[in-house]
Amino acid sequence: MSEEVRSRSRSGSLYRTGTAYSSQIRGEIRGKLHAETIVVGGGVIGCAIAYELASQGKEVILVERSRIAGGTSCAAAGMLASDSEEFHSPVLTKLAHESKALLHQQTEHISALSGIDIGLQQHGFITPFRQENEMNNYRDKRSGDLTTEHVWWDRSILQHRAPWISEEAHGALYRPSESEVLPVNLARAYARAAQTLGAKVIEGVQNVRLNVDANRVQGVDTSIGMMTCKHVIIAAGLQGGELIKQAGLNLPVLPVKGEIAAVRFADHDTGYRPDKTVYADNVYIVPKANGEVWIGATSLPGRSDHIVTVKGIQQLLASAASWVPGIGQAQYLRAWAGVRPSTPDGLPYIGACESIPGLYTAFGHYRNGILLSAITGRLMANLIGGHTSEELGIEELCPERLSRKEIMQ
Ligand SMILES: Cc1cc2nc3c(=O)[nH]c(=O)nc-3n(C[C@H](O)[C@H](O)[C@H](O)COP(=O)(O)OP(=O)(O)OC[C@H]3O[C@@H](n4cnc5c(N)ncnc54)[C@H](O)[C@@H]3O)c2cc1C
Repeated sequence: MSEEVRSRSRSGSLYRTGTAYSSQIRGEIRGKLHAETIVVGGGVIGCAIAYELASQGKEVILVERSRIAGGTSCAAAGMLASDSEEFHSPVLTKLAHESKALLHQQTEHISALSGIDIGLQQHGFITPFRQENEMNNYRDKRSGDLTTEHVWWDRSILQHRAPWISEEAHGALYRPSESEVLPVNLARAYARAAQTLGAKVIEGVQNVRLNVDANRVQGVDTSIGMMTCKHVIIAAGLQGGELIKQAGLNLPVLPVKGEIAAVRFADHDTGYRPDKTVYADNVYIVPKANGEVWIGATSLPGRSDHIVTVKGIQQLLASAASWVPGIGQAQYLRAWAGVRPSTPDGLPYIGACESIPGLYTAFGHYRNGILLSAITGRLMANLIGGHTSEELGIEELCPERLSRKEIMQ
């Protein structure tokens, strides 16, 4: 029996609509194409939204054009770096902290509902420095952000706590509350948990067209038929801008390509394998729950291809080995590239489109979509539940903010 047929016995359903799927299943999908909310896009953001809506007992269909977590979410390093990242807006800083806390709380629930281990590890992050003045400059620059637990390590403590780090390191900042996950597992766990709670998750849905009538969303037209609903949430990451154009809105999404590599240490190399994430200024080194160590990432604004360059990977591996010399002896596994969905003001578009009732957006999470997934899901579910952006403190993220600014200038 195929996975798809088996999945229909659960309360929710995962359907795939590619050529290999039977007309019987397509027929079944056709008969059930209505929900209160349709989420377009099955990356970590769309899946977190579907999970939150289903948790609140809401009817939801998630449509994904290829596979769950097949977009940028499968390229991420999976860091939940709410303390280490430098956010340009206080709202984003607050949401990042809330999101990490929420994700930690949800882990047991989503793992139990989905049967998927998201690989959450909280070993803390260290930010190493080569010179004393670099450390002091960082301390001065980030003093306002150092609100959560952190410890400054001098050379001797660093060598004791992280014997695998280069002897050239002068000291480090240790943030014990930082954590990370396996990003594909997280997105799939959200999707599967949503299904268990009654959501329909449909992969392989092509040609999604927004159906906006009399200035209100009516649903979406797709390769498998028309779906009607009260609310549509566009959670299509990099493609969010293209989709929303169908409703006459201009929400630019700017691509920022990133390359990343995976290595593995031999079992007898445990003394050389990092046991904490190294979050340096030019590279990060993340020991993952699957035994691999991920090394990222390049940042190439304006590039939306997925080519992995020799130069990019060479630079990453050289920088990583300069902090963790044992990487030179590790087994090289693979490298990949993904494209971060950025926006002109660096903030995601999260909220209701005021000019088109029933239309919502949740895309443009740039380099922190894994971190921000839990809170984005919760915020979107609260918006659908009738709360306003003002009540939720996220007016700054309103999707139509940039066009409003243009009008005011
Ligand atoms: C190298 C790299 C490292 C990163 N590291 C981290 C990290 O450590 N921590 C972190 O928090 N973030 C990280 N990020 C960023 C993170 O990956 C993104 O912010 C996040 O994955 C965005 O999720 P999303 O769901 O919005 O987009 P996506 O994952 O791209 O999902 C969007 C989905 O929508 C689907 N879609 C598009 N158009 C349509 C359509 N017309 N119809 C139906 N479906 C459609 C796509 O197929 C896709 O599956 C990293 C990114 C990169 C590239």
